[in-house]
Amino acid sequence: MSGFDEIAEARKQKRAALDEVAGKRLLAGFAVAVPKSVVLQSAAEAEQALKALKPPLVLKVMSPDIPHKSDAGGVRVGLKSAEEVGQAVRAMMAVPQIANARIDGFLLEEMAPAGQEIVVGGLRDPQFGPLVMVGLGGILIEVLADVSFRICPITRRDAEEMLDELKGAALLKGVRGRKPVSREAIVDALLRIGGEGGLLMTHAADIREADVNPLIVSEHGAVAVDARFVLTQPPMNADERG
Ligand code: ADP
Ligand code: MG
Repeated sequence: MSGFDEIAEARKQKRAALDEVAGKRLLAGFAVAVPKSVVLQSAAEAEQALKALKPPLVLKVMSPDIPHKSDAGGVRVGLKSAEEVGQAVRAMMAVPQIANARIDGFLLEEMAPAGQEIVVGGLRDPQFGPLVMVGLGGILIEVLADVSFRICPITRRDAEEMLDELKGAALLKGVRGRKPVSREAIVDALLRIGGEGGLLMTHAADIREADVNPLIVSEHGAVAVDARFVLTQPPMNADERG
């Protein structure tokens, strides 16, 4: 069984959500692929980090104060050398919103192979328990709200139907010369997150909201490149009761 350590640690630190590294460890524990990564504390650590990672790389700020990293200037993609990574760390530290935030570090990770960005989410219904959601990334989800929901645990057939229901489903088959993406990889990820014995069922008591945005799906597989898990309210301690 996995994920309990990450959740316990976040609870101990009185965090409302897992940080990105803990969230990705939680996903990896349920066999959802995540990029290889290293956490840096300063630009000086870039050189050492490059020995463990294969460029191109992505650098992201890690802060409990910055849930939407791109909006804050906290994501840089396509970094190719230790020098570029070091510069990107320094540039991020100089962004006012980042300079004024609590910083856990800078996540440096390998770029996922290019593909279709999709979103897999989870939330808790007070009556039905965990729900799992899938949608196509970018404007399709933001503007058209093209998403599909099911009550957990889902079966393989449910996962297939969820994809068929999306208005943008044709995009997965490849349009305008783009290669089709692996539908099986999406179905597998949905089952690992929302299926029997999956992440949301296993941690139903602790996870209030899950957001894997995006899962990047290529011809060959799917990689979760962002992960946010918001925790349920912890049980009150005796000394916190009125
Ligand atoms: P945000 O907090 O802004 O949602 P993300 O971690 O989702 O930050 O990164 C923003 C965008 O950068 C993603 O939607 C994706 O397009 C791209 N990206 C992030 N990490 C990777 C990665 N490892 N490989 C490829 N693209 C990535
Ligand atoms: Mg994201």
